Amino acid sequence: YGNAKYGEKMSIVDATIHSVNVVYAQLTMEVGPENVAKTAMDMGVLTPLESNPAIGLGGIGGVSPLDMASSFSTLANNGTHYKPISILKVTDSKGNIIEEFQPDFKRPIRDSTAYLVTDILKRVITNGTGKRANIGRPAAGKTGTTQRYTDAWFAGYTPELTACVWIGFPEETKPMGRIRDTIVVGGTFPAEIWRIFMTKALENVPVSDFPSPEKKLIEVEVCSSSGLIPGPFCPDSEKQLSLFIEGSEPKEYCNEHNKVSIPNLIGLSKDEAIKILESLKLTNIEIIEEFNPDYPKGKVFKHEPTQNEFAVSKNGEIPKVMIFVSKGPEQKMMPDIIGLSESEALE
Ligand SMILES: [Zn+2]
Repeated sequence: YGNAKYGEKMSIVDATIHSVNVVYAQLTMEVGPENVAKTAMDMGVLTPLESNPAIGLGGIGGVSPLDMASSFSTLANNGTHYKPISILKVTDSKGNIIEEFQPDFKRPIRDSTAYLVTDILKRVITNGTGKRANIGRPAAGKTGTTQRYTDAWFAGYTPELTACVWIGFPEETKPMGRIRDTIVVGGTFPAEIWRIFMTKALENVPVSDFPSPEKKLIEVEVCSSSGLIPGPFCPDSEKQLSLFIEGSEPKEYCNEHNKVSIPNLIGLSKDEAIKILESLKLTNIEIIEEFNPDYPKGKVFKHEPTQNEFAVSKNGEIPKVMIFVSKGPEQKMMPDIIGLSESEALE
């Protein structure tokens, strides 16, 4: 996982696409290693899995290519797992069916969950570590590489077919090093082998895409940094559309780009101050004009929030900034005192 940028926040989607293990190690501890092991086994892994913290990265003992193909098929089958069988039917020489076998099945994950995982795993091939597995039709997959490059995997599927490629030394776990100047990781030879196999195997199979799940999926704009609804200060580059099962979409506004530090505006003209605030996306400006003996007419003499304080957005609204603009010194009316006595005039 040399591609991880440590200390930076990363979404689970990006961590999956770019195969960043540190994120998965954290996620495993959040959801519980026993739940990861249980779900993997429900989805088709027959190798008994231990519930240790390494499980989210593939575990310690390892699993078989059949385990991987079987569990990835659960995603390809919209959440339904079919127990692998090698003989579908037995016929006699005339083609009469003597015996037929139906695989047992169960549904360990919802179709909407499978669809969302597939949506992310499609991007592994289009934008991530599995680019060499691109077969030019809807397909999803995942690369896998163990420490010291002892194993390299690519497991992937289309709606019609799942295949899993493993490269390593069957007799022992030893590093593979380079082959033809290329390091053996999931995204190199395994992805390429998968592509060559799948292209040939699906040659005469019409192209289809994964079916939409029964439960409605909705596309919602989120801030990729927080995964929440973008507020007024979220950079455009962070805004992206994300798929959610209806009802599970974020309800709160981004809490990372929710405030702006106010610069010093005192002494500026009203228009200069407005221009600066607008450039900071602070367009909710209240202007208050008051007499002020210390500042010339038209200049800002006070603002709220003050310099270095934050204007904080709540519920996605642009926070208000008040600027106080001088009307110049107060003009006192001179009362008519001619003809009055001194004591009357002083009153
Ligand atoms: Zn944001």
